[in-house]
Amino acid sequence: MPKESRAKILADAFLGRRSQPEPEKPWYTPGQIAQTLCALPDEAFDGYVYAREPLEGRIDPPLRRQLAQKARESGRQAALALKQANPGKTVEQICQAMGLAVRRKKMPQDGGRVLYAQFVQPGDITLFTHCLDTAAQYAQQEGPLACLLPQRLEPVLLAHELYHAVEERDKTLFASAYRLRLWSVGPLHNDSPLVCLSEMAGMAFAKELAGLDFCPYALDALLLYGYDPAGACAVCDEIAPPQNET
Ligand SMILES: [Zn+2]
Repeated sequence: MPKESRAKILADAFLGRRSQPEPEKPWYTPGQIAQTLCALPDEAFDGYVYAREPLEGRIDPPLRRQLAQKARESGRQAALALKQANPGKTVEQICQAMGLAVRRKKMPQDGGRVLYAQFVQPGDITLFTHCLDTAAQYAQQEGPLACLLPQRLEPVLLAHELYHAVEERDKTLFASAYRLRLWSVGPLHNDSPLVCLSEMAGMAFAKELAGLDFCPYALDALLLYGYDPAGACAVCDEIAPPQNET
């Protein structure tokens, strides 16, 4: 499937537009997607993440690799520091210790969008339980799929949002502090942050804090499966192209 179509499927899924009259049939099961994506190293997701970065075209490949590594390491270190400061606490207890309110709602107010969790400044994290319940249903059908069980999934979603709260408070973290120089003329210049670095750091933070042995970006496809199974298969193919297509 061409990349544009995959991107469209994904965008449609996230925007709640189901424009296709007959949804395409999935070509993988959630278990097959988990088997493929949960075996990949963190850096295998870089291309997928950068493809969603508005300034992607301005960053050359060596810099991409370097920035991704630094963002991940910074996220991991932030998680280690929090774990050390909060021994024995769950992710939710760490959120509470930091003065954050954790709420659970079935779905976002606007209904149509697929959203798993969100952080709203200054201190609110909301988990949307519909996606957890949906994932739990198809997790059970396959054996069960441990990575999709709510007790495993919830701390990961929570930890990712916690990272966004942490970076709001600590602007020295690599992803918050980094600026890409877009242009400079004499004393004038225009610098911009890269959204994708915060997301990569947030995933590395979540992986460390929740003690995962796979990259949480695998969940992008696995959670989408409950809403758009073919879109989830397309995401899987985008991240790990099938051998016969390359
Ligand atoms: Zn995020």
